[in-house]
Amino acid sequence: MTDSAIRKIVIVGGGTAGWMTAAPLALKLGKSREIVLVESPEIGTVGVGEATLPTIRYFNLALGLDGADFVRKTQATFKLGIEFKDWGHVGNRFFHGFGDFGPPIEHRSPYQYWLRLSREFKDMPSYEEWSMATAMARKHRFAPPHGDQPAASNAYSYAFHFDAGLYAAYLRDYAMRRGVARIEGMITGVEQHPDSGFITAVKLRDGRRVEGDLFIDCSGFRGLLIEGVYQAGYDDWSAMLPCNSALAVPCEKAGEPAPYTLSTARSAGWTWRIPLQHRTGNGHVYCDGFTTDEAASRVLLAGLDGRALDEPRKLRFTTGRRRKSWIKNCVAIGLSSGFLEPLESTSINIIENAVGWLLDYFPDRYCRPELADEFNRLVAQRFEFVRDFIILHYKVTRRDDSEFWRYCADMPIPDTLRHQIELFRETGRVVIHDPEGFSVASHVSILAGLGVVPKADDPLIDLMDQRKLHAHFHKVRESIARTVDAMPGHGQYLAHLTGAP
Ligand code: FAD
Repeated sequence: MTDSAIRKIVIVGGGTAGWMTAAPLALKLGKSREIVLVESPEIGTVGVGEATLPTIRYFNLALGLDGADFVRKTQATFKLGIEFKDWGHVGNRFFHGFGDFGPPIEHRSPYQYWLRLSREFKDMPSYEEWSMATAMARKHRFAPPHGDQPAASNAYSYAFHFDAGLYAAYLRDYAMRRGVARIEGMITGVEQHPDSGFITAVKLRDGRRVEGDLFIDCSGFRGLLIEGVYQAGYDDWSAMLPCNSALAVPCEKAGEPAPYTLSTARSAGWTWRIPLQHRTGNGHVYCDGFTTDEAASRVLLAGLDGRALDEPRKLRFTTGRRRKSWIKNCVAIGLSSGFLEPLESTSINIIENAVGWLLDYFPDRYCRPELADEFNRLVAQRFEFVRDFIILHYKVTRRDDSEFWRYCADMPIPDTLRHQIELFRETGRVVIHDPEGFSVASHVSILAGLGVVPKADDPLIDLMDQRKLHAHFHKVRESIARTVDAMPGHGQYLAHLTGAP
């Protein structure tokens, strides 16, 4: 270790972000650096955050977690995607699955072929019928994909629903076994170097001091260090994403868990249903400018599948992101760096990204600003991709049955997204590709699912024999149906994996 190497890392906060940061740091750095995590049970954690994206599997894999043990200990279920109900209009239903709709044919997107065929042949089912994930979700089937997908069918992927509190505890045990020290205490102040402004220690209410060279701020919405010490500033995106409140309540599970999240659009927001092994997580995300907390609670409770296990818990948030997540020797990860509503389950995914980038750009004690600039650029780009993808769900809907939806129809949106929506409406082309998250297939799922029918399709589709194409699509669909029918039910697969009776 050189003289300038970081010797001690202090993680502030023991929510999902804190332990998701501690675990990979402990694995990567081993005993070469001292790692301490400070948390205050008095403040507690947000405690929600039950749905993930497929990248969580790579995160778990990188930690070397045992898949079956993880599923058992976190009460996890498998997630093939999200079923959207009443989003395009009341009565609209579509599935945003993890995976694609087949490889390009002659370098052209399968969506373009489907578009042309659906205009020429009356028997073409909806586009989502060509997604393996959708077919599995509809029948509540689950099996992990083989290394190679069935030849004629389409690739799928999966993520997990889990109990966020149990996941944090699982990673806490993992990190502490690898040497991370945990301190319980309320941070009430910091010490800074008089010249550099670097944080040198956090001070606890009981008089203890925790010194360090690098401070990771995982303190949640409050951003104790990044905002409290450095006033990083916050870009408020509420004008484009007006929801600012959530109510969350668990209920008894009803039957076999579905292998997907259900998102239902409501008159001032939307509700989620996330099935776990032992219970179902439910929530209502809404804008308090268009409804009251009491009315939102009634909507939530009326939609439960089973008996509520608690009183609904209220959370307030401001959608947006911290202008900088890394300043001097302080790096914010998790809610302290920003928040986007959980419509596409992206917060944990952004934590995974941020921890990966922290390791990629791990500093020495000088914490050169160039490293921080690169980290901040990547975090900003990721937040903006996700922001635009979520706005898309609200913007292209045809719902106009409440003040909230009429606001969404008129609200301003970023130019990049406007361009993408217009391009799709006119030609069915998707050009946005978020390398860390939502592919072209995801954008097509949402746009087509919400009912946008492009005015024109790709003229070069003419180069293919339409009858042969039509037969090809049907063959793929039959192959998907056969493969899915041979899979076990989701509950059956979970029982087999966890050894449950
Ligand atoms: P927190 O959970 O708030 O943890 C903060 C920690 O900081 C706590 O340990 C606290 O004790 C500590 N702390 C704070 N101040 C002090 C102090 N002064 N002294 C000592 N310790 C302190 N994400 C998803 O990916 N999927 C979802 O489905 C999803 N659903 C969500 C639904 C809602 C309604 C909300 C609000 C969020 C959702 N999220 C979801 C986001 C997810 O919950 C968070 O990203 C995740 O829990 C990380 O939170 P955190 O660790 O950053 O903060």
